[in-house]
Amino acid sequence: MNQEDPLPTNFIMEQVRSDLDKGKTATVVTRFPPEPNGYLHLGHAKAICLNFSLASQFNGRCHLRLDDTNPSKEDKQYIDAIKRDVKWLGYDWGDHLYYASDNFDQLYQMALSLIEAGYAYVDDLSAEEIREYRGSLTAPGRESPSRNRTREENILLFERMKNGKFADGEKVLRAKIDMSSGNINLRDPVLFRILRTPHPRTGTLWKIYPTYDFAHGQSDAIEHVTHSLCTLEFEDHRPLYDWLLEKLPVPSRPRQFEFARLNMSHTVLSKRNLMRLVDTGRVTGWDDPRMPTLSGLRRRGVPPEAIRNFISKLSVSKREGVVELAAFEFEIREYLNQHAERRLAVLKPLKVTIENYPPGKSEQVTASNNPKDENAGTRLLTFSREIYIERDDFMEDPPKKFFRLGPGREVRLRFSYYLKCKEIVKDQLGNVTELRCSYDPETKGAPPPDGRKVKGVIHWVSALDAVEAEVRLYNPLFSDEAPGKEGNVEDQIDIESLKVINGCKIEPSLANVTVGNAIQFERNGYFCVDNDSRPERLVFNRTIALRDSWTKAKAD
Ligand code: ATP
Ligand code: MG
Repeated sequence: MNQEDPLPTNFIMEQVRSDLDKGKTATVVTRFPPEPNGYLHLGHAKAICLNFSLASQFNGRCHLRLDDTNPSKEDKQYIDAIKRDVKWLGYDWGDHLYYASDNFDQLYQMALSLIEAGYAYVDDLSAEEIREYRGSLTAPGRESPSRNRTREENILLFERMKNGKFADGEKVLRAKIDMSSGNINLRDPVLFRILRTPHPRTGTLWKIYPTYDFAHGQSDAIEHVTHSLCTLEFEDHRPLYDWLLEKLPVPSRPRQFEFARLNMSHTVLSKRNLMRLVDTGRVTGWDDPRMPTLSGLRRRGVPPEAIRNFISKLSVSKREGVVELAAFEFEIREYLNQHAERRLAVLKPLKVTIENYPPGKSEQVTASNNPKDENAGTRLLTFSREIYIERDDFMEDPPKKFFRLGPGREVRLRFSYYLKCKEIVKDQLGNVTELRCSYDPETKGAPPPDGRKVKGVIHWVSALDAVEAEVRLYNPLFSDEAPGKEGNVEDQIDIESLKVINGCKIEPSLANVTVGNAIQFERNGYFCVDNDSRPERLVFNRTIALRDSWTKAKAD
């Protein structure tokens, strides 16, 4: 589908174009390589769109690879969620679904070959000692006492590591490169470690697991990936990526290219921090509609097209920056404005009795489903003596610029008649509980014969057939522009990020809306049915508010 939509050009695309022109690459092969230790977020969407559109633009292919090399953090539910979310975003890996764990045996053999060539050794140092020996940016590292073991000894020990003869962390396999390298990643990086945790796919077969650095480039090579795209933090790993490919018997020579990750204001885009929000129970789960995860955005009602449109306008460069949340929201509105059908829903109802409308009578008025889309058609709404309007559309003592209802004032009811406020009914506490109004029967969908004008149009639903619903309004999860910079993200959540309104009155056609359909509640924003919705208890999420609502409504 959308995989055909090319992204605007960028430096990676130019690289691929040049490699194809020069015959360096025959078929471009990219991959999206998530680790199944959490759900995908908007940052991953950037990597997904980039990899898949690059491949399809040049008639290549993009693989989905689950980088499952750390069973202590990984889980089947994450694998399933990743597949679902990539598909939902609109991308198809075809037959090219891979797992790093498919290569465990090959990676083990490759490690053996590295030992045989004198480029790897089994180390007895603990993780902490290794860190200490590694040195720092200013101080060179020190060589481990195990560094000069014989090949035979290394092979024997590595086999024993594999066979579960040692405890977790007791030994590791390290590359033998250069402890005084200016690049810390080349100071004898760890290639395999011992872990007894069962693996979601290989179970208890393996007691040792390759590190990211060892598994990644070799998996790229095994899959014949040509252009391995990743974020800037891996730039310093590239010399190691290349070193390993050079020393190992690999079937192809992929190259790594780095681009700046997506950062967005008021948002955390890091699985670790998102996991904290889930684990501390501050959100209802990975798919809480306030989460920047793809599953959260889906539940919130954000269409995948809006995400892709947003990503396609981002720069792909090597410069880190922060994108405004407003830029993302703009794309959501743009898309929904074109595609969402309109409905009437009153979030905070105030009852109106139309005194000159005969009791027991009702009629139907025609409402357009989407003024942006002629094919969307129309529907019928019931009009009757008792209706609900939005409480906020009435003011007892309105200021001059308030064009909605007030004592003695007249407005148009959307798709129907002029309505004039005659009388206010209050309870003992002085709260307005009802308005007594009159309507002008000569104004049905047309201006009155006397030519008088009203400045406000308000929405309404009939008390005869309105359905009740719960509505959940969302604001950004963090009011702070850069959450998580200091302190714990879970303590920085804006308590106003979720407001639940019960007892909303909505037009009856909304009871048939299914999950996944975007709807505009006129003047209130874009909404969708939440997963929690049941026939007896409808629940709607506000995907996003309208840019501005009240004042721009034009009469007639
Ligand atoms: P996180 O930082 O959230 O933990 P990660 O990088 O650890 O994410 P991976 O599963 O390793 O998550 O990521 C899969 C791919 O997505 C990688 O190629 C990674 O570079 C890319 N990616 C992750 N976050 C972003 C982001 N914010 N912007 C662009 N690409 C990203
Ligand atoms: Mg990572």
